[in-house]
Amino acid sequence: MNSAVYPGSFDPMTLGHLDIIQRAAKMFDHLTVSVLDNKAKNALFSVQERVSILKEATKDLSNVTVDSFNGLLIDYAKQQDIHISVRGLRAITDFEYELQIAQTNRKLSQGTLDTVFLTTSLEYAYLSSSSVKEIASFHGDISQCVPEFVAELVYEKFKEHN
Ligand code: ADP
Repeated sequence: MNSAVYPGSFDPMTLGHLDIIQRAAKMFDHLTVSVLDNKAKNALFSVQERVSILKEATKDLSNVTVDSFNGLLIDYAKQQDIHISVRGLRAITDFEYELQIAQTNRKLSQGTLDTVFLTTSLEYAYLSSSSVKEIASFHGDISQCVPEFVAELVYEKFKEHN
């Protein structure tokens, strides 16, 4: 089976992430979207919350499952018997960082984990989880950035924080 993993922080999942998920789901027999439990990043949503947002958003995609992992992606991929990582590219600024991760993963996995890049749909090129959080923290409109149910959860978080 031709499987791939789409790893990321997804804090929170945006319409840009969802677009990559929908397109990758058409390319592979199975896609695992996996939330990286990165303790170093000060996340707004817990890993469990991010997983349940992704599950809700992808419930109609029958070949997509949602999971989480910590540690190295190459170890997780090996465990799951997955050999392709999917990542999104928005602009040239993403490229250097993504290239470095892709090459590191290929080297560390001795060639067993390769990376496939999908370029962003232009309408989402400006979108990032951090800008969504920043806009919401100032009570701005994030309805163009995330699904409606996610927008409500983000606003609730900022109510809790203030
Ligand atoms: P990271 O894993 O670097 O913390 P994210 O969870 O925000 O980043 O994103 C996971 C992946 O999705 C990365 O490859 C990132 O470049 C990509 N991505 C994020 N936002 C978009 C977008 N608007 N369009 C396309 N790809 C995106």
